[in-house]
Amino acid sequence: MASTENVRLYLAYWFQLGKRLVLDNGKEILLPKPVMEGNYYSQQFEECWAKVDQAEGKNCYLEGTDYTIDSLLSPRWDIHPCARCDMPIATVESGLPSLLCPCSDLMYWPNLDLPIPRPPVSTKNHLTRLKNRLNNS
Ligand SMILES: [Zn+2]
Repeated sequence: MASTENVRLYLAYWFQLGKRLVLDNGKEILLPKPVMEGNYYSQQFEECWAKVDQAEGKNCYLEGTDYTIDSLLSPRWDIHPCARCDMPIATVESGLPSLLCPCSDLMYWPNLDLPIPRPPVSTKNHLTRLKNRLNNS
């Protein structure tokens, strides 16, 4: 099961690549900008998250994926780095192969010429390893 903090981080990473959040099955589509202010999530991000929270993640999903935020918060799911691009992606915990990464429809990705998405420094979680790998690359 992905923690709330990891789901927030997952969204923050993809927002930095321009992936949008679909709310209420498409009634609203959000892309908070900026995602971060200094070392913290931006107010825009927090407002976006408040809507996800209010809907309990139901019918909310990241553009290009077919799993909802509430499924990410359910026991079968977790978040791991993508084998191709190191971005956090949702996986089913049963040991099945990773699902499609949203990177599959991004052209020219991974692209080392672009700023690599980063987590807010204040975040502490098991994606720290991922963060370190990104910082070292
Ligand atoms: Zn990927």
